[in-house]
Amino acid sequence: MKQNPKSEGKCLFCGETFAKAGIIRHLQGHLKQKVEKGKPGQSYLVKVEPASKWDSAHYFLALWVDSSATLGNVDDFLRAIWLECCGHLSAFTFPKNWKKGGGKWDFFAAQELLRSGKQKDLDDFMDEQEDEIPKSWKVNKIFYSELKLGYEYDFGSTTDLSLTVVKDYPIKADKKIVLLSRNEPLEWLCDACKKEPATQICTVHDWDEDSLFCEKCAKKHAKSCEDFGDYAAMPVVNSPRMGICAYNGGAIDTERDGAFVKK
Ligand SMILES: [Zn+2]
Ligand SMILES: [Zn+2]
Ligand SMILES: [Zn+2]
Ligand SMILES: [Zn+2]
Repeated sequence: MKQNPKSEGKCLFCGETFAKAGIIRHLQGHLKQKVEKGKPGQSYLVKVEPASKWDSAHYFLALWVDSSATLGNVDDFLRAIWLECCGHLSAFTFPKNWKKGGGKWDFFAAQELLRSGKQKDLDDFMDEQEDEIPKSWKVNKIFYSELKLGYEYDFGSTTDLSLTVVKDYPIKADKKIVLLSRNEPLEWLCDACKKEPATQICTVHDWDEDSLFCEKCAKKHAKSCEDFGDYAAMPVVNSPRMGICAYNGGAIDTERDGAFVKK
């Protein structure tokens, strides 16, 4: 498959559909209006994309995250919508250059060490912070506008994601994590007939070989590819983890999780 399906997302506030490039700005408009009437608090507009350049052109999530949510809650959400196959480990990490834009993250611990005047302790502390961020931490300890965080699910066949805090708002979110938009199912075409939307993927082939099939061509492929009949067939789903490990679809927002359907 060498395809470049277009990516668009529906605004779940108003139902209008936008190209990926425009949806975040549109959502900011809604949130700005909400600030006028919302309950005082703290919340964040967060964009989630695959970390790989190629995939990030297609897949995205737009989330409204309340300050009361923990990274564990975000982890649960990402697993439920995009990732969970067999309970692999996951981790949130700061990108290598986080210190530049940062300073807010564990500000108090760092301040304490600064005050103690022990530069070495502070350096050690900073070095440690490159590692995993505890999932028990509330997002307001970490998030600030324009922060970029890394996230990995499964340290074997890893799905690498990047979270960007687009903006923060002085109001409570409607729930801990609200899905505001995601890319609609992508129009992957069958690699064999090149006409029908693909519904299955044969995971033993390289991505540049024929690997995506519509229902009809999948039946034909099963005759020539033994592995496909045995174990290699996976469903086309709306996630950057499509075709990886045993991932066969999400547990929430399932109406937008299937293969593309011709209108
Ligand atoms: Zn809208
Ligand atoms: Zn797995
Ligand atoms: Zn086909
Ligand atoms: Zn095959």
